[in-house]
Amino acid sequence: YQLYSVTDGPVSLISPMDCSIPEYLPLSESLAPPEVHNKIITAVPFAIDYTRFINEFSSKRQPSQLREITRLVEKLPPHCIKFGVGIPNVLTFPFEKISVELIGGKNIEIQGQELSDALQYMPSIGYGPLIKILQEIQDWFHGPQDWKNRSIMMTTGGQEGLSKAVNMCMNCGDPVLMPDPVYTGAIDLFRPYDADIIPIKQDAYGVVVEEIERVLIERKKNMQPIPKIIYLNPTASNPAGTTLPTHRKREIYRLACEYDMLILEDDPYYYLHFGKENPVSILSMDTEGRVLRFDSFSKIMSSGLRAGFVTGPTRLLRQMELHMQTSSMHTSSLSQVLLYKLLFSWGKNGLTSHFMHVKQFYKEKRDHMMHAVANQLTGLAEWSAPTGGMFLWLKIKGLNDTRRLVTTRCLDKLVILAPGYALAVDTMKPSPYIRVSYSIASPEEVKLGISLLAEAIREELQL
Ligand code: PMP
Repeated sequence: YQLYSVTDGPVSLISPMDCSIPEYLPLSESLAPPEVHNKIITAVPFAIDYTRFINEFSSKRQPSQLREITRLVEKLPPHCIKFGVGIPNVLTFPFEKISVELIGGKNIEIQGQELSDALQYMPSIGYGPLIKILQEIQDWFHGPQDWKNRSIMMTTGGQEGLSKAVNMCMNCGDPVLMPDPVYTGAIDLFRPYDADIIPIKQDAYGVVVEEIERVLIERKKNMQPIPKIIYLNPTASNPAGTTLPTHRKREIYRLACEYDMLILEDDPYYYLHFGKENPVSILSMDTEGRVLRFDSFSKIMSSGLRAGFVTGPTRLLRQMELHMQTSSMHTSSLSQVLLYKLLFSWGKNGLTSHFMHVKQFYKEKRDHMMHAVANQLTGLAEWSAPTGGMFLWLKIKGLNDTRRLVTTRCLDKLVILAPGYALAVDTMKPSPYIRVSYSIASPEEVKLGISLLAEAIREELQL
């Protein structure tokens, strides 16, 4: 049990255990439940034992004393005398005001205290006002249970969050469950640990749950170690374009609870799902505190801002935060303040209409691609229509290995594709697949590119 005193103002912590929890407890004055105010509350931590998910290396991390002071300063009144902080004076920085013109004519101006915040170091967990808005966004879309034990940390893209989670959990040789094919940026994080990567077959709806269960039953029977981590990319997956249905997610969550596993829910394409209903996330099902969810602004705002965020059990996020304190210290303050200003000015309606716009954009691109492949590749390839995102996963008929097709024939025609072998768990095995991305190409380029691909396939198959 951890005890918090809740005063009129911000929630303050009594337990010295973890000072990252209370800062971001109430989402905003309006949303904070009335019982949070003027009361002593007890936060019951998730019942699971997290030691299995924090390796020896990570457990040796200590809070950086100076970073903790930076966090403390944020909570003190602005007129406090800051002798203790080793930060530069923003008055020496050559920025008077940062002005950003948005598409549609609206402006964002960063000045005064917000400009100082954007130019200065900030707490490793992220910019407080932004974190509050992100909590609200998570509530709108996922309604995670029990914020008392859950936190959000800003990361430099979803990739940094993933990397810090893997770094916290993995020991050399640990088994891990991953979809096959898989996002290479995820599998590459596990390789340096000589991880025993267990591939999970995918069908048109994503990973096949019976496969996961079969592996787990077998490993238990043979007394082999049970994976600590199951990595999933549930919406419009990279590269297969599949979206896991809710009932499969529930089953996977059940297995995670039964076998004591952590789920890494890497979901950067969540807002690019073409269906009418938003997918139900695994985070929203998480009653036990075994989901780390990775969101990203890369596909919906800008990949160059390098902004993502991880939502998960505070105990684990604290551990990742300690890593952050000694690596990048924090995600770019300018990116965070800019995002805050944008999200604040948009509100829920502005944000959802932007998501709709981005979704529609990619849906049209997908439709052009589907039209082109139906015209040019019928009889030469097989595919399922992507459910969102930006990838079409094509299986070339009668070809065991697409390596030469992609790296020689298509390249000679100046058509760039990703060969299937490079996106498989076992990159040494030949693969009949190719990944076609439709995010950038114009409709004319799609038409030409797919007809050149068809030509290359015919040459390769000597048809
Ligand atoms: N996960 C998946 C499945 C991705 O496809 C990507 C980017 N291609 C990332 C994570 C990382 O993206 P970012 O760091 O830009 O958020």
